[in-house]
Amino acid sequence: MTTTRFAPSPTGYIHVGNLRTALFNYLIARQAGGTFILRIDDTDPERSKEEYVDAIKEDLEWLGLTWDRVERQSERLDRYAEEADKLRSMGRFYEAFETPTELDLKRKKQLNMGKPPVYDRAALELSDDEKSKLRAERGGHWRFLLDHARIEWTDGILGDLSIDAASVSDPVLIRGDGQVLYTLASVVDDTDMGITHVVRGSDHVTNTATQIQMIEAIGGTVPSFAHHSLLTGPQGEALSKRLGTLALRDLREQGVEPMALLSLMARLGSSDPVEVRGSMQDLIDGFDLSKFGSAPTKFDKDDLFPLSATVLHGTDLSKVKTDLDALGVPADLQDQFWTVARENITTRHDIAAWWVLCRDGADPVIDPDDAEFVAQALAMLPDAPFEADSWKTWTTAVKEATGRKGRGLFMPLRKALTGMDHGPDMSALMPLLQTVRAKA
Ligand code: GLU
Repeated sequence: MTTTRFAPSPTGYIHVGNLRTALFNYLIARQAGGTFILRIDDTDPERSKEEYVDAIKEDLEWLGLTWDRVERQSERLDRYAEEADKLRSMGRFYEAFETPTELDLKRKKQLNMGKPPVYDRAALELSDDEKSKLRAERGGHWRFLLDHARIEWTDGILGDLSIDAASVSDPVLIRGDGQVLYTLASVVDDTDMGITHVVRGSDHVTNTATQIQMIEAIGGTVPSFAHHSLLTGPQGEALSKRLGTLALRDLREQGVEPMALLSLMARLGSSDPVEVRGSMQDLIDGFDLSKFGSAPTKFDKDDLFPLSATVLHGTDLSKVKTDLDALGVPADLQDQFWTVARENITTRHDIAAWWVLCRDGADPVIDPDDAEFVAQALAMLPDAPFEADSWKTWTTAVKEATGRKGRGLFMPLRKALTGMDHGPDMSALMPLLQTVRAKA
């Protein structure tokens, strides 16, 4: 049974980069009729905040990415301790005592000598006496002893990968203060929860190599791994520093439609074109991980707005009824109003301005050259309410009376009624116009 997980650390709001990971794992599970787990990686009690856990759930709910169950690492510390003991008894876990400064110094020396900055396993040479002394002095942390062989896997996106374990430091799994680190927790969880597929960012490739050995050591089944490329800005610039400004809640605030965001993220970086999908099921059916490439993926927030407009153009009244009710659009006008408005908005925030225009009329825009013509035409305009044929009847009469036609006839009248030189078909707008301010 296909089981995937999205495993955010609740140390901040989730952003477009996290969304990519969440969405891919969600789509893989749903496509296979499997299970999608929301795993909260909260082993760091200092940085993990409950408000972020709530915010992550809220953001995923907004997008419709529903999970089958929630798991919390903070509730599984006993399991991690058990597996740590197991690794210890197998001789795959060893205590080391270097301080961060000492480790830093070692790395610098190695780099100066042109060597890769890999932990030298000096702790393995310590006698029991030395260890007791150091433990009492400064406390120790625990590392996983990698088997210095090549670690190989076929990545769902990157293809065949082979990493020499000797080029990687033995990962620290338990800190000096006893805190279990993500790598151990993740491996135990992936094994216990029967995770079959893990998709995550390519910044995790080295982690994956070490985790494969750890999963094998604790007797788990290695899931199939895939690493998606990282997002960059539109010019290819690193996005990592700016991701904070691309939080999902900010995009929601700016009026981005969930399906616009999902449609973009499910295709960006793949060989398939980005197209707005009508439903989550379409998105699930059309998803293919093998179409994604390893090159960094350019993300431009501005792309979300035309896509949001497209989503809204195809949105039924039933989906915006609450918004229209809140704006006070009378029930009998909602259908006609939405038909007109949805063609002329980029986000839902724009709906209000159209309703205000219909309800209160617009400040007229009248070019001096057209002033006389417009005055003559307005004198021929009956009072609101208007009908479906009001625009045609009126402009035909004005045309006969003034001899104007085409753009010279229609544009000044549109500007006088709406204050704009563009917008909806006037025949459709007229029945919604409750007031013509130019007439007052
Ligand atoms: N909490 C980890 C992260 O946010 C999860 C990585 C993983 O998917 O294993 O980077």
